[in-house]
Amino acid sequence: MLKAFVARIKQGYRTYPFPKKKPSLPERFKGRPVISDSKCNDCKKCISICPTDAIIANGNKIELDMGRCIFCGKCEQVCQNKTIIFSREYSLAAGKREDLLLKSQEFKSAESLKADMLKIFGRSLKLRQVSAGGCNACEADTNVLSTLAYDLGRFGVQFVASPRHADGLFITGPVTTNMKLALKKTYDAVPSPKIVIAAGACAISGGIYSGHPEQTNGADNSVPVDLYIPGCPPNPYTILDGILRLLGVGS
Ligand code: SF4
Ligand code: SF4
Repeated sequence: MLKAFVARIKQGYRTYPFPKKKPSLPERFKGRPVISDSKCNDCKKCISICPTDAIIANGNKIELDMGRCIFCGKCEQVCQNKTIIFSREYSLAAGKREDLLLKSQEFKSAESLKADMLKIFGRSLKLRQVSAGGCNACEADTNVLSTLAYDLGRFGVQFVASPRHADGLFITGPVTTNMKLALKKTYDAVPSPKIVIAAGACAISGGIYSGHPEQTNGADNSVPVDLYIPGCPPNPYTILDGILRLLGVGS
């Protein structure tokens, strides 16, 4: 018994002090893209190599839709002029779909909920996860938030089994035609007021499945979305940062 106590004391406190301290991310992590239009020579190589049509030509400038991007890095590799580079910035969430369309100017991060909503959800937010046809990588990176390393519960956020016990939905996957009705029913079962989070390229735009006839190009074609978290899958810290921004917790 004593040995167990000693081992526990030696382990100490294992939860990372996020958001007070910035996370240390793996070397291969690709964060928010940065676009420098002045360097573009209009060769359009990035547009033709992008697997999800996330890059759009706008005159002699380019725009990158983070809601479609799967962060494969091919556009960065193919551009000799370094017009697109991927930063280490993990904070990618936005409150409006259009804010995910990156131009050369500043990115508008997600804002906190309005005061009346914050009063209700600020200290306790229960979410029902809906897996609407993705590959499960988004779920895997969300699951780890409940482990001791991230400890989502310390912010009052928990995943619950029933939509009737939830304050909102956390949706992953492109919303397949088979899941559309189930998603709508689950949304209706959550008592109002409620919030909806779309996590991952699939849930935002259809991602790699975009355009396929058996899916519906993202959650906001079925239910209203309050927070978009890009990535394929989003890094757990990107997800946590997005949720905390919504709750007005400094990140
Ligand atoms: S990193 Fe994103 S924008 Fe660039 S090629 Fe891949 S999917 Fe397209
Ligand atoms: S966004 Fe990427 S990781 Fe998430 S479900 Fe879709 S394909 Fe999988």
